Amino acid sequence: MRNPTPRPAPAACVLHPVQTYHRLGPEFYATTPPQGLPAPRLMIWSAEAARLLGLPDPESDPELPARWAAQFSGSAWPVDCPPLSTVYSGHQFGVWAGQLGDGRAHLIGEVAVADPDQAAGYPSWEVQIKGAGRTPFSRMGDGRAVLRSSIREFLASEAMHHLGVPTTRALCLVASDLPVRRESIETAAVVTRLAPSFLRFGHFEHFADRGAHDALARLADYALARCFPDAAAAGEPAALTLLRETTRRTAHLLAQWQSVGFVHGVMNTDNMSLLGWTLDYGPYGFLNAYDPQYTPNTTDRNRRYCWYRQPWIAQWNLSALAHALLPLLPDAEAAAEVVGGFAETFGAALHANLTAKLGLLGSEAGDPELIQAWLELLAAQRADWTLSHRHLAQATADPQAPIPDVLQAMFPQTQTELAAWFGRYRARLARQSEADAARAARMNRTNPLFVLRHHLLQHAIDRAQDGDISETRTLLALARRPFDDVPPDRERYVAPPPADAPAPCLSCSS
Ligand code: AMP
Ligand code: MG
Repeated sequence: MRNPTPRPAPAACVLHPVQTYHRLGPEFYATTPPQGLPAPRLMIWSAEAARLLGLPDPESDPELPARWAAQFSGSAWPVDCPPLSTVYSGHQFGVWAGQLGDGRAHLIGEVAVADPDQAAGYPSWEVQIKGAGRTPFSRMGDGRAVLRSSIREFLASEAMHHLGVPTTRALCLVASDLPVRRESIETAAVVTRLAPSFLRFGHFEHFADRGAHDALARLADYALARCFPDAAAAGEPAALTLLRETTRRTAHLLAQWQSVGFVHGVMNTDNMSLLGWTLDYGPYGFLNAYDPQYTPNTTDRNRRYCWYRQPWIAQWNLSALAHALLPLLPDAEAAAEVVGGFAETFGAALHANLTAKLGLLGSEAGDPELIQAWLELLAAQRADWTLSHRHLAQATADPQAPIPDVLQAMFPQTQTELAAWFGRYRARLARQSEADAARAARMNRTNPLFVLRHHLLQHAIDRAQDGDISETRTLLALARRPFDDVPPDRERYVAPPPADAPAPCLSCSS
């Protein structure tokens, strides 16, 4: 099947964005027209994300699905707003990889925020389509994304947002029958994603590596205005403010990843967002059984990007960003001090998150040991990360009450250790004199019941590849309310994977 000829068509578009990125200069981007998809079908969308852009639900008008499909597959765009792809470089798996860039992403423009309450002070959303064909930065790639990986990105974006984790959002997924070769022949899709900025650490590394210090300085000013409009401090170089803000936000992001048991899988510097948001959903995964060495990425044989290493990799990546910004900074010591602050910010944020997950109020001297002992218990038992925290809410502070059955059942090989830990935990709860029900309600707003487990995703993808999108829709509905209890007919969606479920096998191929 041939790619369709792109056709800029202003009247057909549902969105009329503007571009500002090109003002940085020609060395920052390329304007290769997107290739679109043959017979594009709007497969799934987020009505909530649509509202961020002021777009009506495509279901509200029978003409809208076709117009969405055209624009968000890259088959049509306003003539006065040509899509563009940006250049960046980066470190992959700890090694300098040179020039990368948007090899299959097109920025179709920026849209002023429709609902300021949902935009955390950002002036506009960038709208990017992923999978609409080759760009000058595609290298050996075909510029496409397959339905499998597009569903994974679409659902993860919405799931992470509703878990309260900063992330790029997903507007919609457009599918087609266009064949794409990966390990086998699959079909092409395009995901549209939104962020106040898609700038990556790698954008800065690119210009630093080339010694293009003027361009680097322009980028720093642009990034500060776009990403941290309120942080600019008089008399401080833009690059220093940037580095400090990105370090702080990345530390908080990592504390949240660790808390919800999210493993990104490919924390290369080109996948790190300057905003400190989750970016680029490839071979990601959520913890099932707690194994600190878990990584869903089967090509990461040294487990560089496994769960427990993520924070330290984030700091390594921040050092690479600091190195790139050095020509704009007063001295290397200032940069080292900022990046060195990561550990303390991250440690405090993680401690606060875990304290909340255990339902502890205030702070006591023994809390870090209590939390550490809980993590060791989980690891010894390989207990399910999500459910063990969720079920902890059923504990009572009453020293006579038995350990809740549902929790007891999760620790069959570590009953003695569980009982010992529980005694300490219960004593701690008793000292905070809060009603059990009030604590449980608090914990259930912190510890999700539903996370996007690999086996659920795989099942939804298998069905979607057979033309049935209903499971994907169900997962989207569940992902939007991860803290709610589920009705009995949905209990299988909140259970750990069945014992015979195949282990996740995910590569970077998407
Ligand atoms: P990733 O590992 O997905 O973060 O991608 C690393 C780099 O490879 C980025 O520059 C991507 O744009 C590019 N890339 C990944 N897949 C493709 C593809 N199918 N076609 C073109 N470029 C790609
Ligand atoms: Mg990437």
